[in-house]
Amino acid sequence: MHDYLDRRLPARRVRRFESHMDGCPRCIRAFIDARQTAWTRKAAARVRVRSG
Ligand SMILES: [Zn+2]
Repeated sequence: MHDYLDRRLPARRVRRFESHMDGCPRCIRAFIDARQTAWTRKAAARVRVRSG
């Protein structure tokens, strides 16, 4: 891992990474965690806007 989570990779390399994830549970896990973190941040931002 992996620049993918920073969204720095060009599409070609993203594809390569995605195929790599098929055989790399660690990366799958990290990818899911990163996405959940992003969602949580979005949700938190929403709440913030709502309340303030
Ligand atoms: Zn990996």
